[in-house]
Amino acid sequence: MLSERIQPEMNIGTAGHVDHGKSTLVQALTGVWPEKHSEELKRGITIKLGYANAELRKCPNCDEPKCYTTSRKCPVDGNDTVLIRKVSIVDCPGHDTLMATMLSGATLMDAALLVIASNEPVPQPQTREHLAALKIMEVKNIIVVQTKIELVSREEAVKNYESIVTFLEENLGYVPPIIPVSALHGVNINYLVREMVKRFIPPERDLSKPPRMLVARSFDVNRPGTKPSDLKGGVIGGAISQGKFRVGDEIEIRPGVHVGGKYMPLTTVIVSLKSEDIDLEEAKPGGLIGVGTKLDPSLTKADNMKGNVVGLINELPPVFSSIDVEASFFEKIVGFKEEIKVEQPKVGDLLQISIGTATVPAILEERRGDLMSLTLRIPVCTELEQRLAISMRVSGRWRLVGHGLIKG
Ligand code: GDP
Repeated sequence: MLSERIQPEMNIGTAGHVDHGKSTLVQALTGVWPEKHSEELKRGITIKLGYANAELRKCPNCDEPKCYTTSRKCPVDGNDTVLIRKVSIVDCPGHDTLMATMLSGATLMDAALLVIASNEPVPQPQTREHLAALKIMEVKNIIVVQTKIELVSREEAVKNYESIVTFLEENLGYVPPIIPVSALHGVNINYLVREMVKRFIPPERDLSKPPRMLVARSFDVNRPGTKPSDLKGGVIGGAISQGKFRVGDEIEIRPGVHVGGKYMPLTTVIVSLKSEDIDLEEAKPGGLIGVGTKLDPSLTKADNMKGNVVGLINELPPVFSSIDVEASFFEKIVGFKEEIKVEQPKVGDLLQISIGTATVPAILEERRGDLMSLTLRIPVCTELEQRLAISMRVSGRWRLVGHGLIKG
């Protein structure tokens, strides 16, 4: 039988318009409200990517679909349930100004739950924008969750379902499964879990590849006033994209820290690996992994290391401070209610580029057809042919306008 003390096998992202019920759904699936940070609670929106693990489970005695649950006790007959798969749910922000965080989250997703509320016309701006982001990041494994069904009549729910189908046909080219739920009241969550078990199969991973981790967060875990002798080293949190890390590995972090006008890579040793509260000797792709290091904690405080890449020493891809990108732009800005045309950027314009978990301001230096030469304000560690998202400032906010591939 699968043990509960394992790390999750895959990452599932949430996407969808603000207030459509993403966080409530994460809570229904994981038992954890993802907005853990006081700043996020104050603002009432999910600013940083929140992670929580969910257990997809089955009651050995109940019939389908009643047998599917995320609880260790069957809600129908109270028997112990059996773990089928452990997954990590990445709760992405729905607020339009936070699109870049959503994009960096999408690179960590193996599959996505697209949340659409039944009590609003379809599509809302970020429903469209997030679906575009999932397409750019090539997240193909999607289940649509039609939420808040208890707030509308049966006729309204059916009409809303039909408009979701039309929206998906027009914007995705196919219609993934759509599961109507009330996340608040736990209605139809068993149908959703059944669909997740069927469709969200962990991707094959080649663990012999050189390990890489994309840093999504970083922390100083020491309380103020801790004695210097008791200080713990810096902790970095991220998703492993390939290979595996072990406690004791000597690691390099690129591009590293800004000192004396340039970025210097950091090297350190892994002293601990954690998936939520579970200590691991070895960590592979799946979920957010907390990596304890010997770094000075002041380097890792307040998400300082976000956007960095971790690997074994001398095994990381190069660091670029200028890149050539083969770009394609949308016709219309996807995040607006109104139909606003994308104005193609001109030489000298400031763009925002999302590569992995890095969000970087960039100046357009030169343009030849689809090929753009960009200078990056913060260097990035990346492979060639890496996919990236391009945002521009429109009406005072960063909007997703296109995507591209790094060519040099
Ligand atoms: P997010 O911004 O997409 O993460 O949305 P939240 O999960 O924060 O939900 C926004 C609001 O909708 C909250 O007040 C929730 O209680 C409410 N909500 C979410 N799901 C449901 C649901 O299934 N039914 C009802 N009635 N309300 C819901």
